[in-house]
Amino acid sequence: MSAQESAPGPAGGRPVASAVVVGAGLAGLTAASGLTAHGIEVTVLEARDRVGGRTHGLQVAPGSWVDAGAAYLGDRHTHLHALLAELGLKTTPTTMLGASRFALGGVHATRDGRFPPLNAVALGDLFEQLAELTAAVVPEAPWLTPDAERLDALTAADWADRQLTHPDARLFFPLFLGEMMAADPADVSVLHMAFYLRSGGGLRYLNAFEGGAQQDRVAGGAHQVCERLADRLGTRVRLGEPVLAVHQDAHGVTVRSARGEHRADVAVLALPPLPADAVEQHPAPPVRRAGGRTARGCAVKVHLVHPAPVWRDHGLSGWSVNAEGPLLSTVDDSPAEGGAGVLTGFVTGAEAHRFAALTPERQRAAAAEQAARLFPMLPEPVGLHITDWVNEEYSQGCYAALFGPGDWLRHGPTLTAPHRRVHWAGTETSTEFFGLMEGAIRSGHRVVAEILART
Ligand SMILES: Cc1cc2nc3c(=O)[nH]c(=O)nc-3n(C[C@H](O)[C@H](O)[C@H](O)COP(=O)(O)OP(=O)(O)OC[C@H]3O[C@@H](n4cnc5c(N)ncnc54)[C@H](O)[C@@H]3O)c2cc1C
Repeated sequence: MSAQESAPGPAGGRPVASAVVVGAGLAGLTAASGLTAHGIEVTVLEARDRVGGRTHGLQVAPGSWVDAGAAYLGDRHTHLHALLAELGLKTTPTTMLGASRFALGGVHATRDGRFPPLNAVALGDLFEQLAELTAAVVPEAPWLTPDAERLDALTAADWADRQLTHPDARLFFPLFLGEMMAADPADVSVLHMAFYLRSGGGLRYLNAFEGGAQQDRVAGGAHQVCERLADRLGTRVRLGEPVLAVHQDAHGVTVRSARGEHRADVAVLALPPLPADAVEQHPAPPVRRAGGRTARGCAVKVHLVHPAPVWRDHGLSGWSVNAEGPLLSTVDDSPAEGGAGVLTGFVTGAEAHRFAALTPERQRAAAAEQAARLFPMLPEPVGLHITDWVNEEYSQGCYAALFGPGDWLRHGPTLTAPHRRVHWAGTETSTEFFGLMEGAIRSGHRVVAEILART
């Protein structure tokens, strides 16, 4: 089919000529770009006054940007790499040179490498058990995993209580899960934990910087991907237009936003599951996108800004792992273009719930006090920025929604099944690289293929 031909139609052979895409994150904008390239008239409705969703840039010094949302990517993120090349964007390696800082079990330590000063046998056992669970998952259909019913009913916290006997493994497990998937172990099923780790490329890949999922960042910030896609789509993208309802009939869809109504042949809801369920639908889909136990991913990002990466002068990489919180880990995210040194602090899991409930003043004080304890050799930061994703209405958590007990068995089989003229996109609909930018882009491509295949 040539780029400008119309796609086969939704009913009786009538071609799909128009689509409303709800959500201008990576999934929605990838879908909108693909549909437009096939001659379909597209309108993108975005609730916020910016595009990008869970990618978001923060300017910390003139011309110096950091990622308040998604930041890291690896070589296996092939669709994202292809998109970056198409949009003329470059990557920059994540810097990890020098010693790490640890504050675990009341002890502060500086060590080479990233392995924490905890019982190596206990952590080895933990990772072996996680690797076994991960290897057993059927990644493209987790609900078909052997013993899926039991694994879907059990939370990762229950699993840890039963399986982890050594105090060091018990201390480290929630920190690991917070860092990997912004999850409190009480919020996710064992099946979801194992699926997430497998979907992202396995434990080793997901956890690694060099050669792994954290190897690189987008130079100048990942938010530029959506900004450039939106620039190409021009006036098709409408900001500040939250969608409230989608009605469908035999001939098309009517999408009602806070600003008016849009009629089209099909709609794409490119939203995380919790915001997707907030959109009223007629007729209602047979299965909702989220269940009673679907939880918000819990992450708050704190950026500590220095005039330069001053920790490097002390032989430190900027990497730290801490049990005391609120900053459970830190990493050097200094902009490649210079102009500032930036340590990103991650507040995740149960700690993020506590932190997000504080006033902004108390959040700032807690983050600054802990940074001073972690890095007593550094001067006070010249800037401190906090991005709280837990309370963002149009994300409802991050990095991604957390599937709790029962979710995979209930929602898995219909995760991508269109509801008549409504198609689903978003990173949480991708069984490959679920929760990541790569998963979002792949879901956008899938939805384009689905719409083109309608007859
Ligand atoms: C702090 C943080 C760190 C992360 N780290 C990484 C990382 O290092 N690497 C990585 O690959 N991924 C990471 N992620 C995850 C990554 O950002 C997401 O997987 C990806 O951006 C999701 O894209 P999406 O299009 O599926 O959803 P979203 O980006 O959430 O897009 C959905 C869009 O829909 C809009 N919307 C919601 N409700 C409505 C409505 N009713 N009407 C209209 N519009 C609506 C939202 O405003 C949003 O723009 C991170 C995320 C966060 C927040």
